[in-house]
Amino acid sequence: MRLPKSQSIWKTAAISGNKYLPNRMSSDFVDLHCHSTASDGTLSPTAVVRLAMERNLSALALTDHDTIAGVAEAAAEAGRVGIDFVPGIEISAEYPHPGTMHLLGYGVDPQNPTLASLTDKLLAGRDDRNPRIIAKLQALNISITMPEVEAEAGGKVIGRPHIAAILVRKGYVTSIKHAFDKYLAPGGLAYYDKERLSPKKAIGMILECGGLPVLAHPVQLRYQNDGELERVVKDLLDMGLAGIEVIHSDHNAHLVEQYVALAERFGLIKTGGSDFHGANKQIDLGNAAGRRIPRKFFDDLMTALRSRKSASPMTNNQ
Ligand SMILES: [Zn+2]
Ligand SMILES: [Zn+2]
Repeated sequence: MRLPKSQSIWKTAAISGNKYLPNRMSSDFVDLHCHSTASDGTLSPTAVVRLAMERNLSALALTDHDTIAGVAEAAAEAGRVGIDFVPGIEISAEYPHPGTMHLLGYGVDPQNPTLASLTDKLLAGRDDRNPRIIAKLQALNISITMPEVEAEAGGKVIGRPHIAAILVRKGYVTSIKHAFDKYLAPGGLAYYDKERLSPKKAIGMILECGGLPVLAHPVQLRYQNDGELERVVKDLLDMGLAGIEVIHSDHNAHLVEQYVALAERFGLIKTGGSDFHGANKQIDLGNAAGRRIPRKFFDDLMTALRSRKSASPMTNNQ
């Protein structure tokens, strides 16, 4: 959706969030990585913000895959209940199998025309991918059609979880996990990879949209050794990477420590989030494998965004 310039979402909700609720309970914890029904989560953007309130979080970033469609709704609810909010997006970049590289873009300006063309491109990649997966399933004598999948998605971004849900309902598999293992995950019988942006292009576009690019859950790169991880981070740094997600539900204490050290060594900001997906994953909002995410991560992110915005001629928030 389009907002008047003066109501740039991140500006009103994040920078001046406090003014909406002078009496709000202060909390030292936040969540900077979660998904809503705008991508593959099961809670609406409003419901995610309300849950953040219930979990006593003081700030939230919504980071749906390939889209900012949920951001305006979440920002409005965050403003209403008095939680600080920053818009985000999570983009999958090209990376050799079996690893995956996800880049988070924080503070992207919803009014930036580059952002619309970026999300159009990313969603077109998905549009292209889903019919190919369906065709592969049909070739395996599985009864499934695109209209069924569209109905399952209910107008939201169609993803593999929607296809998986149909396979479970029709009895081809026993669970969502079974559907992914047998058919939908890399190596599965009906797997088809979507077209991805190169890391350089993804980072460049996040920057161009006024956002800060952050490497999500580095553990999922499945690097062979610490040297390889360092090389990847250095390469991304040259492309404009601004931060590393150090706290995540897939990171144990040792990894958190390692990523914190890496971020500090390279002068990158540290972020953290649960990667909450609602009922689609056994993860609670604000809780990354038993660890909470300090408020300082949000404050540092906002400080970096403010200095980026004031330094960059590419964004216009005047
Ligand atoms: Zn991810
Ligand atoms: Zn995620």
